[in-house]
Amino acid sequence: MRFFVIIIAMQAFVEPSLLHPPHPGDMVAGTTLRLAASACPVCERVDFPRRVACAQCLGSVGTVALGPSGVLRGFTAVLHQPPDAQMQAPYWVGDVEFAEGVSVVGLLVDVDGEPAKGSAVEVVAVPLDNGTLTFGYRVAAGA
Ligand SMILES: [Zn+2]
Repeated sequence: MRFFVIIIAMQAFVEPSLLHPPHPGDMVAGTTLRLAASACPVCERVDFPRRVACAQCLGSVGTVALGPSGVLRGFTAVLHQPPDAQMQAPYWVGDVEFAEGVSVVGLLVDVDGEPAKGSAVEVVAVPLDNGTLTFGYRVAAGA
């Protein structure tokens, strides 16, 4: 249940103008994406989902694009189907650290066996069972 809530909440904060490709309608499953985060020019705090003001100094924030590459710092398997989930269990969820200074939890896709901590991953569009897309992570080729 906890992971289901996180997945839906993150889906709402992916900003189309900072995705690659730039138009959500052009996205297909597996497309590499960048995520829109807020960045404070004063204290350099980065937040995802993006905020309207800095959580640390309350100043105005700009937007920074995360990824498309990051590093897998942790993961877990979701083995039991949460109520009303839009993804069929079992599936993997990972915590990915971006060079911009923030970590974001998301689905891990195309996982063959247990993933390795420290693996390079890329942000990709992931289809949900209801036909919509969200973001997730795929282990980068050659990682
Ligand atoms: Zn700040």
